[in-house]
Amino acid sequence: MTDLRPELLSAADLLLAPERVLLEAGSAADHALVIRDGLITDVGPRDAVAARNPDLAALDLPGHLVMPGFIDAHHHLTQSFGKALAFGEPSEIFRRIWVPLEGALDAEGVYLSSKLAALESLRGGFTTVVDAGTRSEADVAAVARATREAGLRCVLGFICNDAGPAAGRDKAAILRAAEQHLARFRDDGLTHPSLAISIPEVATDAMLHRVSRLAAEAGAIFQAHVNEHLVAVERSLVERGLRPLEHLAAADALGPHVLIAHSTLVTPAELTLLVRTDTAVAYNPVASTWKGNAVAPAEMMAELGIRFAIGTDGTRSDAFRMIEAAETLQRIAFGLGVGDFSTGAGWTWLDHATCRAADAVGLKDVTGAIVPGRAADLLLVDISGPEFTPSWDLDWELVRYGNRDQIVAVLVAGRLRLWRGWPTDWDACALIERVRAVAAGAVARAPIKRIHALSRDHRKHRQDPTDRRL
Ligand SMILES: [Zn+2]
Repeated sequence: MTDLRPELLSAADLLLAPERVLLEAGSAADHALVIRDGLITDVGPRDAVAARNPDLAALDLPGHLVMPGFIDAHHHLTQSFGKALAFGEPSEIFRRIWVPLEGALDAEGVYLSSKLAALESLRGGFTTVVDAGTRSEADVAAVARATREAGLRCVLGFICNDAGPAAGRDKAAILRAAEQHLARFRDDGLTHPSLAISIPEVATDAMLHRVSRLAAEAGAIFQAHVNEHLVAVERSLVERGLRPLEHLAAADALGPHVLIAHSTLVTPAELTLLVRTDTAVAYNPVASTWKGNAVAPAEMMAELGIRFAIGTDGTRSDAFRMIEAAETLQRIAFGLGVGDFSTGAGWTWLDHATCRAADAVGLKDVTGAIVPGRAADLLLVDISGPEFTPSWDLDWELVRYGNRDQIVAVLVAGRLRLWRGWPTDWDACALIERVRAVAAGAVARAPIKRIHALSRDHRKHRQDPTDRRL
């Protein structure tokens, strides 16, 4: 189609008839879908949908796929100023980079870094992100304002730590603030409240249990980072005699409303614990590649029926590269050694970044699939180019040949938010300019301790290994 223009996708009600539609059962030809007031109201064989909706003219989209927007199951929106400062760093970067950086952000810094991250997410094909909670003292409303303005759906975490560095905080005040967070964003359109504890060791057992229950009672998810690094597992074993995931179980904090990030270092007994409690996992393949000790056994989790989604952990908000990494890492870590050439096939990684992800992040009735009643959180993808020609297995081709440059349009709640990578109704260039003006100062103010040098200095060090200055 040569005359596809953003205006054509800007109507409140639409009947889209693309070449292919990605349904929960896989991609289908000769199908159409209807969007009314931000929701998908009809989907099915094209002629039947057209007959049921005579008031709408079909918008033919040859050479295009309409698919659900991707879900990033684990993000830290307020870390975006420092995302390129973490390369080459040894594990537990949060202690030396993230906590100092986020702690140094003022309200404008929180807003700008969140909006920058939201823009990058939308450009990368994500229509929903799960934020694990900021360590900034600034009001999380700045994060919600940024994502709302950008048009990104956000599961917004609120951190409730009361031990470790947070020891001495008023526990009653923490719980009151948690309840207020849940109430404040309960009916907030694109924002969905969530509660979080950074890692189990920074909360008392009573707080872990109470916060998890509060989230469950509110229909929200409870988030924690668990079993990511060897040092954290060892520390937990020494201090508690339990591994972090076992610690959460001992505090009675697991359950179907819980989303744990990472779980890269899991024993068979812990996998059984996840099955038994129906706890969900955020598998973060790029984070494993860049800073991990291991890869979460996601294909095994799929086989065991453990609910999981896929996340970026703030590394790189590019959904197609994320699902490619999800497949590749499973293949390298588990498939190659046993001759598992399928390694879940492409659809496993596609589903766990869309429809199955929605279930894991607590939004199974809201987004993640082209089903009547769900929000029209959609991507229009150009499949007319050489990468998808000839096409034999589009679902798997999306994992291996998909690229964000092929995303023509991003709709969230039925509203066109990006056209060929750029917002249609706000000035992204002005945002980037403002970020450039303030990010260096924010990073300079933060007491960040980096171990690895920037490339320029690292090259010098390689020439003179006795020079240890970084
Ligand atoms: Zn994280």
